[in-house]
Amino acid sequence: MITDQFNRPLHDLRISVTDRCNFRCQYCMPAEIFGPDFPFLSKNEVLSFEEIERLAKLFADLGVKKIRLTGGEPLLRRGLPELIEKLTRIEGITDMGLTTNGLLLSRLAEDLYDAGLRRLNISLDALDDNIFKKLNGRGVSSREILAGIDKACEMGFEVKVNMVVQRGVNDQEIVPMAAYFREKGISLRFIEFMDVGNSNGWNMEKVITKKEMYEILSSHFELEPVDAAYFGEVAKRYRFKESNAEVGFITSVSESFCSSCTRARISADGKLYTCLFASHGTDLRAFLRDRSSDETIKTKITSIWSKRADRYSDQRNNLQTPKKKIEMSYIGG
Ligand code: SAM
Ligand code: SF4
Ligand code: SF4
Repeated sequence: MITDQFNRPLHDLRISVTDRCNFRCQYCMPAEIFGPDFPFLSKNEVLSFEEIERLAKLFADLGVKKIRLTGGEPLLRRGLPELIEKLTRIEGITDMGLTTNGLLLSRLAEDLYDAGLRRLNISLDALDDNIFKKLNGRGVSSREILAGIDKACEMGFEVKVNMVVQRGVNDQEIVPMAAYFREKGISLRFIEFMDVGNSNGWNMEKVITKKEMYEILSSHFELEPVDAAYFGEVAKRYRFKESNAEVGFITSVSESFCSSCTRARISADGKLYTCLFASHGTDLRAFLRDRSSDETIKTKITSIWSKRADRYSDQRNNLQTPKKKIEMSYIGG
């Protein structure tokens, strides 16, 4: 196990398998910026499955136990089940998950399950179609995502739904979403709108904090707190009384959790980032492609992680000049 400057172990790894997406969520990939001329990565720039597998094995050797695949939209990556099969076979990896916007799920759920995937986080920001169609920037109906969620549940996946909440955009959906997923027995996690990237027009007024969301929810439902299941669990969870369903809050803005952040991220072109709000990554693809040995790459990763001192969310309010950050769609959340 390797640890950083604040004694945080390297425990989980997010791997982005593509920087492309079939949505244009305003808060992540605004269509004005991610238009037809946007310089997305070329096929050759993106890591191959073999390269991803090799990196994942090296990270597992260094103590990583959890892998989550993300994007862009990971289900757009052709042949994804083949990669999942490779990754689930790696010794030491005990937990594999995938985060998706759910649009291709009805079509792909079976193949993903057969490949060994069991955990899915599905993003859905509103049930109301007028709101959702605007939010996803592609006019996709929430019914399509709900059908994907139903399909995933039928297949036996452990499903969580993620909702990014923005004031004046979808806050009126907090209660209907909670009621709908409570009924279905599916965990819903409310995510505070974050200042990731440089293009989503973030400001503090648009953030609805966990405290505020909790107050809204408790005027409709009785909630009781649930203990964290493990060190570094990101969501603060609550159970509905007289139901097994839960809600969680991801409080990156109002109650930062940098002190227990054990996560590294790899972009689709193989750069290693030690924080979601980083400006620079380390090009691991160069090591993979110049035939560096496993030991050389592991030494590099160890050196980066042991120097890591990131705590952006802890420091957010005291940062003077905004720095240029990587985009969420590139690093995968
Ligand atoms: N396309 C997939 C999806 O939407 O689930 C995976 C990638 S997406 C970048 C991962 C997660 O980041 C999603 O749950 C999305 O809602 C969340 N996200 C994107 N931009 C965000 C922001 N500005 N603040 C908070 N969460 C954000
Ligand atoms: Fe695509 Fe996910 Fe970003 Fe929406 S949040 S634009 S679905 S990557
Ligand atoms: Fe981890 Fe960076 Fe987020 Fe803090 S701001 S929790 S260090 S990713």
